[in-house]
Amino acid sequence: MDRRNFLGSVAAGGLGLFAMRSARADGSSTPVLFPVPTNTGIKGNVVVVGGGMAGAAVAKYLRLWGGSGVNVTLIEASPKYTSNIMSNTVLTGQRQLSSLDYAYATLSGHYGVSVVKATVARIDATGRWVHLQGGGSVGYDRLVLAPGLEFDLMPGMSSLQEYETLVPHAWRAGPQTQRLRDLLVAMPAGRNVVMTIPKAPYRCPPGPYERACVVADWLKRNKPGSKIIVLDANPGIVVERDNFTNAFNGTYAGIVDYRPDSTVTQVSSAALTVTYKDIVGKETTLAAGVVNPIPPQRAPQLLNAAGLLSSDPDRPFAPVDVLSYESTVPDKPGIHVIGDASLTTQPKAGHIGNQQAKTCADAILRLLAGKQPNPSPVTNSACYTPITSTTATWLSAVYQYDAATKTMMIPLQHNKGGAIAAPAPTADNYEDMLTWFATLMGDTFS
Ligand SMILES: Cc1cc2nc3c(=O)[nH]c(=O)nc-3n(C[C@H](O)[C@H](O)[C@H](O)COP(=O)(O)OP(=O)(O)OC[C@H]3O[C@@H](n4cnc5c(N)ncnc54)[C@H](O)[C@@H]3O)c2cc1C
Repeated sequence: MDRRNFLGSVAAGGLGLFAMRSARADGSSTPVLFPVPTNTGIKGNVVVVGGGMAGAAVAKYLRLWGGSGVNVTLIEASPKYTSNIMSNTVLTGQRQLSSLDYAYATLSGHYGVSVVKATVARIDATGRWVHLQGGGSVGYDRLVLAPGLEFDLMPGMSSLQEYETLVPHAWRAGPQTQRLRDLLVAMPAGRNVVMTIPKAPYRCPPGPYERACVVADWLKRNKPGSKIIVLDANPGIVVERDNFTNAFNGTYAGIVDYRPDSTVTQVSSAALTVTYKDIVGKETTLAAGVVNPIPPQRAPQLLNAAGLLSSDPDRPFAPVDVLSYESTVPDKPGIHVIGDASLTTQPKAGHIGNQQAKTCADAILRLLAGKQPNPSPVTNSACYTPITSTTATWLSAVYQYDAATKTMMIPLQHNKGGAIAAPAPTADNYEDMLTWFATLMGDTFS
């Protein structure tokens, strides 16, 4: 099957077709690794910055579809990737953090991606170089930026270090995830957790509500008398409203205290208090046993310094042409931005990052071959959400390129243009979630 047909069939069939795997009886599976072709005729040097959900996938598929004439250098700051997806279940002790680690060995060993462990400090868009922290530079014909997000300070905070110790956001999985777990375990029963949600757009739309549910489930069993107070800057639950409303008002009645339209004005990491204003401007200060602020998010400073971000202060991300994910900022030729750092109509999610990576890889290979990108790309998104330790829901959407608006849109004939959600949390969905997660991570890293 050629690359175009492969992409088309996957768009129609979903992620499962990407990752052919041989299943074992225990439910785990071994990926079937396709060889990198040697004779596509396409040549070029592509540098990818960031080896997360979007960056690892684009590096892999550039080689898999482009062949050995396409030199791909993946520059990643960390020696391994820790998945955000499923990291809420580390908070409840259902998973160990180390079970979410992914290595770059298959990308380098099998696909021939040159993996460089370094931090990119600066982009020279004119000379087509990236400069590394500590010295060294790498030149490119095409550059793909997939560095994820950076997190703002909450009002009242003076240092990002406070997130590492006193008030972890754990919205990038890693040491903060373990720290938040430890703080929850150490919290005396009867004290409350206070969690805050920033205004959309933020990483993983259902993620904060998922966290409220699984933490509430854990509090119910481990901390009698405790509850989780959710201060949402949005006017209401952003996605899967019915499922989360039912969970908050039913399964977790008295344990989840959900307060929409809450604007946080002060987080004191020393006193463990959160002050917020409600919709009528009334200010309230809450004392907490654990504070978990999920901060406002933005594309990294690296992109800002390179002049790649939108001038809209409410959307500090990189505008792109979704046919290729090339920057739409003037005078930035050959720079593509995918994943959470990009500004599109699609959610900031790992599954979508993987799909954007494939559209971007396909477009870059066509451009290197002197052709135009596919004029009608399709992507799909899926988010599974644990609601209890044994049940989950899901949210899914298919996006098609709309030439009139030049955006990715859910077609009107699909659920009236909206995402589709599971009707209710079930144990079957929980099983499907584990399969989906293994498939997505396998497709990205192996
Ligand atoms: C609790 C939680 C649950 C989630 N659940 C889901 C879910 O169910 N489904 C879903 O689809 N999504 C989910 N997400 C969202 C998903 O994890 C993100 O959308 C996804 O990781 C974004 O991918 P990315 O490649 O843009 O960024 P990341 O995955 O964050 O990767 C960015 C990489 O770039 C590297 N990097 C950054 N700057 C530099 C630099 N200057 N030089 C070199 N390397 C650099 C970083 O080290 C990192 O490895 C969840 C997120 C959270 C927090």
